[in-house]
Amino acid sequence: MSTPLKDMLIKRIEATGPITIADYMAECLMHPTHGYYTNNRVFGSEGDFITAPEVSQMFGEMLGLWLADRWYKMDKPEQVQLIELGPGRGTLMEDLLRATEPVPGFHEALTVHFVETSPQLRDLQAEKVPHAHWHDDLSTVPDGPTLLVANEFFDALPIHQFEKHDNKWCERRVNSKDGSLNLVLTSAGPKFALTPKDLHNTPDGSVLEVCPAGISVAGTIAERLFQCGGAAIIIDYGYRKSATGDSFQALKSHQYCNPFEAPGEADLTAHVAFDQIAAAATSRGAASYGTAAQGPFLMALGVGDRAQQLAASTDSAGQERILSELKRLTAPDEMGTLFKVLALQDPKLPAPAGF
Ligand code: SAH
Repeated sequence: MSTPLKDMLIKRIEATGPITIADYMAECLMHPTHGYYTNNRVFGSEGDFITAPEVSQMFGEMLGLWLADRWYKMDKPEQVQLIELGPGRGTLMEDLLRATEPVPGFHEALTVHFVETSPQLRDLQAEKVPHAHWHDDLSTVPDGPTLLVANEFFDALPIHQFEKHDNKWCERRVNSKDGSLNLVLTSAGPKFALTPKDLHNTPDGSVLEVCPAGISVAGTIAERLFQCGGAAIIIDYGYRKSATGDSFQALKSHQYCNPFEAPGEADLTAHVAFDQIAAAATSRGAASYGTAAQGPFLMALGVGDRAQQLAASTDSAGQERILSELKRLTAPDEMGTLFKVLALQDPKLPAPAGF
């Protein structure tokens, strides 16, 4: 299948040679006219995939209470930068803000910042949270005590892939042949240095992944928490401990598809290596907690009680819906185990709930 972005990428590859998976992923997701997040697509049941905040209001509500508790433990600073990375449709922030409205003084202290590159998604977010401030990255968010949340943000950041061939690590790059895109093995680029050394001695055919952008964002968050105080909560699917394997995947209309088939038209993601995120953060002075699995984490925060409370004020169809949402978020065979939660915070703060 031809797409405008595919034609552009083929021309680029013909002119300058194969591109890294990271370059390919960045173009597919963020190209200013043809990128997946630039152009498309709704999250939710009609879209290509559904995220936890779109499954249920309870997700954002629980995270809101977790963050409000951190604010209390920070001694209720009068001004707090509340940052969300990759807010999608703005649903999580809307639910989080509604749930924390009764917390005395909390909303008065908050300034909401969205880190979002897609202008189209910024418009959707503005419908839900009109008073937010938008940023391309964290560097322009003003200093100050910080609360940060990121759900399914790190899995969208570009990864590099390396494959062992004839006992030598090579980099996978995207090449073009007869109007289609395919993978080739090339000499490993400098990002190989970021891969976990304990996985280097693995058999031929092994694949290693690394996400330099994720490592860099984690370091920036940690510096901010160390210098200005505060806490961050990161939820995503991925590895508790880095492992070999190819986790690069494409989703279109809730179906897995070939990531090289229709660039710009499918969502591309990779497993998040939480140990690498946590190591980047602790090396910059933050304390890290977890990972916890999403199911037990949400149950520890009281999502079961919240579901009962919501169910008590609705009819039997509503009750069934709430129970199925709860199951979707927490059951081990749904999002409860695959999705993991990592907290980063100022080391002076006491341990957070849920870990
Ligand atoms: N958190 C939302 C959306 C997840 S999809 C939810 O749970 O529903 C990923 C989000 O991250 C989108 O809003 C996308 O536009 C944004 N995004 C992806 N890469 C980004 C980057 N490098 N910088 C800023 N935003 C990015």
